[in-house]
Amino acid sequence: VETLRGETVAVFGLGGSGLSTLAALVGGGATVAAWDDGDKARARAAAAGFPLVDLASADWSRFKALVLAPGVPLTHPEPHWTVKRAHAAGVAVIGDIELFARERAARAPNAPLVAITGTNGKSTTTALIAHVLREAGRDVALGGNIGVPALDLPPPADHRVHVIECSSYQIDLAPSLKPTVGLLINITPDHLDRHGDLTHYAAVKERLVAKADIALVGVDDEPSRAVAARIASGPGRRVVAVSGGESPLAEVFVDGRRIVSCDSAEPPIDLEAARALRGAHNGQNAAFACAAARALGVASQDIARAFATFPGLAHRMEEVGRRGRVLFVNDSKATNADAAEKALLSFRDIHWIVGGKPKAGGIEPLRPLFGRVAKAYLIGDATEDFAATLEGAVPFERCNTLSRALEAAARDAFRSRAQEPVVLLSPACASFDQFANFEARGDAFRAEVHYLLNGEP
Ligand code: ADP
Repeated sequence: VETLRGETVAVFGLGGSGLSTLAALVGGGATVAAWDDGDKARARAAAAGFPLVDLASADWSRFKALVLAPGVPLTHPEPHWTVKRAHAAGVAVIGDIELFARERAARAPNAPLVAITGTNGKSTTTALIAHVLREAGRDVALGGNIGVPALDLPPPADHRVHVIECSSYQIDLAPSLKPTVGLLINITPDHLDRHGDLTHYAAVKERLVAKADIALVGVDDEPSRAVAARIASGPGRRVVAVSGGESPLAEVFVDGRRIVSCDSAEPPIDLEAARALRGAHNGQNAAFACAAARALGVASQDIARAFATFPGLAHRMEEVGRRGRVLFVNDSKATNADAAEKALLSFRDIHWIVGGKPKAGGIEPLRPLFGRVAKAYLIGDATEDFAATLEGAVPFERCNTLSRALEAAARDAFRSRAQEPVVLLSPACASFDQFANFEARGDAFRAEVHYLLNGEP
């Protein structure tokens, strides 16, 4: 990035994207001062040749800006003090998305940029939009909060569409971000630990769409509806209301399994063929992706065709195998009851592998959906807690490990007479009692299913 050429810039947080920020700044002729409160992170940056400067004792009058890595929680004590020091010295506090936005404004202000935010569905919607645009023959750069950090992507250009997922945190630190198409999918009270209260959290997300040429805003929850109403009056702006249901406020909405548009010139898009977009929540994601693709000129037939070939994201209701009528689904990302609910709602005759490190409330909120569960296979620390909840409502088996649970669930599913028995890993729990993270848990499940079905590791 060239916009800070000749300046000295402090960078706090030296994970993957922190390093990408440093490289981009140095590549653009800036001098950097890198810091992280972790020894390992500092050592990695030093090994890559970036100068370390302890920001606690640094002379802040040297710095033009402080770049905070995404993922550095604002409540973390060290960055908190670092940010205070920056403010005291009048140094701008920004994030990598801000650097990306400034670069775009300087190099290619008309380069198409789709920016996506929301409490849930960001990654799915981002990946789906990128897939649709690629299938339509566009040059697409996909990244941000998902996958590749924005500054590691090919640079903004008129012939290239950037599709960038933004966390609230990244929006907060990116005042220059003005997307061509901005999406606000939904706002639910989540992540409030980081953003203090819902009003602030919503206000941050609002900023992304308030500055977009075309704003796609959800109308399925109260805070998003308020945003849609507020920005609708802004000058020179197009606002499209989107619903994952049949909201009368929406211009693009979902009727059964079809995406319908109030614009009668647009044919409905059937989601039946889109296997990776099961479930009502994915109707919302698909409606947004459809509206975004149309805003960029993709024809409805092409959108429908691309939806059908969308492979979905790993660990989110990911189909990892099938034998005969039995389907195997990896939903390891479901680390709480709310997420597991989406999976239970999407299938019937479920052989449910559930458990891990339990969260407050356990699986009690899922009781209304127990009728969809043929049997539960309990793993990890949550076993006794979940056994007590399931007692008398759903047959269950204590399996302890994921391998044993898969074995038992597959055995029962193969014997089932149901039309499409599903072996579903949707743990409603964190993974840390048995795995490094939800990805490792999902990868293990996928590998074991492949072994079970193909006999090869
Ligand atoms: P994010 O990137 O916002 O975390 P993902 O697309 O990765 O969202 O989806 C994560 C989980 O959130 C999914 O497994 C699903 O349970 C749930 N989810 C996805 N889309 C939605 C949506 N539109 N509304 C509510 N929940 C959703």
